[in-house]
Amino acid sequence: MIDLHAHSTASDGTESPADLVASAAAAGLDVVAITDHDTTLGWAEASAAARAHGLTLVPGIEVSCARGRRSVHLLAYLPDPTHPDLVAELEQARESRETRLDRMVESMAADGIPVTVGSVRAEVEEGATPGRPHIADALVRAGVVGHRDEAFARWLGDSSPYYVGHYAPDPVRAVEVVRAAGGVPVVAHPSSATRTGTVGDALLEEMAAAGLAGLEARHRDHAEDDVRHLTALAGRLGLLVTGSSDYHGEGKRNRLGENTTEPEALERIEHEATGSEVVRP
Ligand code: AMP
Ligand code: ZN
Ligand code: FE
Ligand code: FE
Repeated sequence: MIDLHAHSTASDGTESPADLVASAAAAGLDVVAITDHDTTLGWAEASAAARAHGLTLVPGIEVSCARGRRSVHLLAYLPDPTHPDLVAELEQARESRETRLDRMVESMAADGIPVTVGSVRAEVEEGATPGRPHIADALVRAGVVGHRDEAFARWLGDSSPYYVGHYAPDPVRAVEVVRAAGGVPVVAHPSSATRTGTVGDALLEEMAAAGLAGLEARHRDHAEDDVRHLTALAGRLGLLVTGSSDYHGEGKRNRLGENTTEPEALERIEHEATGSEVVRP
């Protein structure tokens, strides 16, 4: 079983990279990809754990992108983590996420919601990519809500008045940077609905022309119709198709292996990649 999308405490997952790999082994996966938001911080620990557990690890990143106000998540498999353009884009996104989170927390606090910049920062591992789930964690720890879900429903959702965006590269630029770094770009959950709508076929076609490799068609956020539509679109555009869990530990309901990728798709990803290597036991 192959699951190509999972998060650790290097971003907004709740398990360390080593624990994520242990969970993947316990869930019966043969292959797992670590794809934290805008960082490669977890790769080394996850690679060591994969060797220890006899699991295959695909190092990846979920790159935050935006076209205007529309958010797009781009999975980048096996890029060179030292490529200067990639490093620069990721650093800029992480820095902007920091300021943006402070702004969200300050406006929430001003409305009497019991959260502080310090209490939120305490939820983020050293060097990790901060995100809205860390505000949720501070609220859970304060006993204000029982789970991240509840904090998102009340205050943190895409249409919340407290929502603040952050810097993110244009999706076409991101595809080019990932390819320049030898990585293989696959659009994460393209039909996942946000307040600005879904990614949309026109933008996917534009990204395909720029070097996109695939679409994550099978994902918990997609209805059967979405899966059929994306699979057909991928066929027309010559793109590969993946299925993944988008696991976040206890932070989300998604379970490892709930959607999986065919071995042929992984072979193609590995064949196209020149930036890093798959870690095999
Ligand atoms: P951000 O990257 O800071 O904009 O936050 C978005 C992240 O929050 C996404 O990666 C989601 O995994 C996570 N997220 C979105 N909705 C929820 C929810 N209802 N419960 C838990 N996590 C969520
Ligand atoms: Zn996330
Ligand atoms: Fe995502
Ligand atoms: Fe994700």
